[in-house]
Amino acid sequence: MKRAKVVETDDINKNGEDEKHPNFLIPKLCSWMYDLKWATGTGGGMSVKHGDFIYMAPSGVQKEMIKPGEIFKCNASGEVLENPASLKLTECAPLFMNAYSIRNAGAVLHSHSKDAVLASLIFKGKEFRISHQEMLKGIKKGSSNEPHKYIDTLIVPIVENVLYEKDLTRRMKKAMELYPESNAVLVRRHGVYIWGKNWQQAKTQAECYHYLFKLAVKLKQLGIEPDQAPAGENGIA
Ligand SMILES: [Zn+2]
Repeated sequence: MKRAKVVETDDINKNGEDEKHPNFLIPKLCSWMYDLKWATGTGGGMSVKHGDFIYMAPSGVQKEMIKPGEIFKCNASGEVLENPASLKLTECAPLFMNAYSIRNAGAVLHSHSKDAVLASLIFKGKEFRISHQEMLKGIKKGSSNEPHKYIDTLIVPIVENVLYEKDLTRRMKKAMELYPESNAVLVRRHGVYIWGKNWQQAKTQAECYHYLFKLAVKLKQLGIEPDQAPAGENGIA
């Protein structure tokens, strides 16, 4: 009996034929982030876990034009196993590793969205807070499957920025340990890190967080505190 030719899985993936493989997914997700203005000017990034391996986007490249053959493959400790296009690994790598090692995440992204930057500035302390919003339901409580309720107060820790991105690693870790229910860490005047148990959940939560960041900024402009419980609202009940 004639046996079918064995094709190396990774060769297929680098040609972008397996849409579920990170070599294909990461370029697509980075392009989505670019379109949302979360990853312009080569900023921001994305990482996805697949089996025992962690895949990461390269640094300093046009985030909307990454090719399947340009994705880094790392082991579970974050050590680079493959750098097919001889590019530079993202400076976010140790920060992405925080989400994998501390939260057992399946995917993590870093956004330079203006909404995230503004959200980090409307609260001067350690916490971004918002409550009584329907979109809270799209965000789980930490690694659990329990979503936030409409009436809950969503808290995102804020860390101060540093000169070099990799030096944020310790601050992000500290914030994650202090706020186990948060699936995001804001970096003041810089952006946000958001993760999920898989890429779909990371994407969904990222969309909800960014929606809430934008809304909170607008509410502040209108003189409404984002975490204030409703008062004097008299619609049909
Ligand atoms: Zn950054």
